[in-house]
Amino acid sequence: MKAVIIENGRASIKDMDKPSIKEKGDIIIKMKACGLCGTDIEKLRGQYTASQPIIGHEPSGIIEESSVDSLKPGQRVFAHHHVPCYECYYCTHGSATMCPHYRRTNIEPGGFAEYFRVPAWNVKRGGVLVLPDHVSFEEGAFIEPLATVVRAQRRVKLNRGDNVLVVGAGPMGLLHVMLSKVNGASKTIVTDIADFRVEYAYKVGADYSFNSKKIDTINEVKKLTDGRGVDIAIIASGAPSAILSGLLSVRKGGQVLLFGVPFKGTVLNYDISDLLNNEISIISSNAAIEEDTVDALKIISERKIDVSKLVTHKFTIDQFNEAVRVAEEGQAIKVIIQD
Ligand SMILES: [Zn+2]
Ligand SMILES: [Zn+2]
Repeated sequence: MKAVIIENGRASIKDMDKPSIKEKGDIIIKMKACGLCGTDIEKLRGQYTASQPIIGHEPSGIIEESSVDSLKPGQRVFAHHHVPCYECYYCTHGSATMCPHYRRTNIEPGGFAEYFRVPAWNVKRGGVLVLPDHVSFEEGAFIEPLATVVRAQRRVKLNRGDNVLVVGAGPMGLLHVMLSKVNGASKTIVTDIADFRVEYAYKVGADYSFNSKKIDTINEVKKLTDGRGVDIAIIASGAPSAILSGLLSVRKGGQVLLFGVPFKGTVLNYDISDLLNNEISIISSNAAIEEDTVDALKIISERKIDVSKLVTHKFTIDQFNEAVRVAEEGQAIKVIIQD
């Protein structure tokens, strides 16, 4: 079978053996769709160090082989690549994505493969969700990214009527825009440095969207919020300037949600006394667990969010390098690899 794996720091399209069931509880899935994520590209560039260099973690597909009674060949499913133990100190104290087991679990050889194995560990703990008939594979590929957004907005306790700034209008930022509307946000303001993405934000329900290279974010946000600033700034970018603009655009008592992962070594030039004097909270959110993937599937299934609006490009496994090139050019939102 064909699969994309990382070899010597670059994506290599390999002909390799189809994975097989290694232990009772494993399942084998035929991949139908898998989103290309910014972190996949960071892994290719050697800039991502949080987990093993396995790429493709937003897959959906059809069960090819199963060694559990609850899942049958032919079922259409989503599979979660990282699943925590749900028993350790972190798991039982609200930080399951920090579970020591979480990042050790993964699908093999990754989501950009014709077939992949989901380990029994993940299957047993609810890592595989059956897609309702009306949810397409392409939509199923959004369960993981939307789940991370669901978890993030839960952590920040987005309230009805909140004004929200989303910094960064890539696929994750735009999922934040869409979910903030579902969660009752009043004004949703979006900034990006690429005009294509600035315009795209309007297609998914942003109230205001502008290019932060051309318009000063802090002034503009103040103008749009009676001089106060937003209740919540969501930073869907790892750029230090994006984090700073969020910190300077929230109202007194507001919250900054750190979502995009900055490069290691990123240091901010920010006066911490401003946090205390203005009672600003910084909350970070990292990845997602099964309660979030279940919620994400429900949101997609109930058509509260039309994730398909975000798909701008589709490629096959053979075209993987072209997919990466397009994703990096800034004229794409979500790039999907399909069979
Ligand atoms: Zn991702
Ligand atoms: Zn745990």
